[in-house]
Amino acid sequence: MDYLKQMPLDELLEKCSAYGIEKILSITVNPENLERVLDLARVHQQIYCTQGVHPHDARLFEAETKEQITANCADPKVLAVGEIGLDFHYSHSAHDIQIDVFEQQLELSVQLNLPVVIHSRDADDEMIASLKKFSGKIRGVIHSFTSGQKLADFALQEGLYLGFNGIITFNSAQNVRDVLDQTPIDRILVETDSPFLTPTPFRGRENAPFYLPLVIQKIADQKNLPVEELIKTTTQNAVNLFRF
Ligand SMILES: [Zn+2]
Repeated sequence: MDYLKQMPLDELLEKCSAYGIEKILSITVNPENLERVLDLARVHQQIYCTQGVHPHDARLFEAETKEQITANCADPKVLAVGEIGLDFHYSHSAHDIQIDVFEQQLELSVQLNLPVVIHSRDADDEMIASLKKFSGKIRGVIHSFTSGQKLADFALQEGLYLGFNGIITFNSAQNVRDVLDQTPIDRILVETDSPFLTPTPFRGRENAPFYLPLVIQKIADQKNLPVEELIKTTTQNAVNLFRF
């Protein structure tokens, strides 16, 4: 992909295999990359993908976008609707548009019987309000979880997973580690959020799945659990949710 500037994709996939990472869920974020990411998944056996429009680009979501997502979700390499959600930190799209587009895509996930990958930043109350409308119908993960305990508790009650990544290795992220402490191991997913959020001590480099062992190690230390147990459980969590 465009952002893989430091390493050719084939080399990256080989390195992932060497680190025990067998399957990759690649995320779409806007109408332009829906097709491109699906093409990658079709070509590379290890890559699976989502289909969805990120809150940053909610203003670009049109009726045809919804049709395209629906059609592409019929492909067996598409495992989820995402990433969708609310981002009131950057507010690249107006809040009412973000909420509308988020809820349209939640509805779509219910119709298609697919899980969702949710992005949520500085919109905890609005996120809870939208999710409440679909209570009991949604399966999914709130990825890169940095929200408050109230949203975490609500999400866990609803049976959602919380996604943790390199952020938990940052000194500044005590609030995220506090939420992690309260999250049962069978509700945790690990992720990269590549190309962002590379774990310590490699901050500043482009992120990639082969840095995941650093995230796993940190969670294991934080929860005082053997690394092997954490790998086994979080892998099973991902299989249960995405049906890899
Ligand atoms: Zn995100």
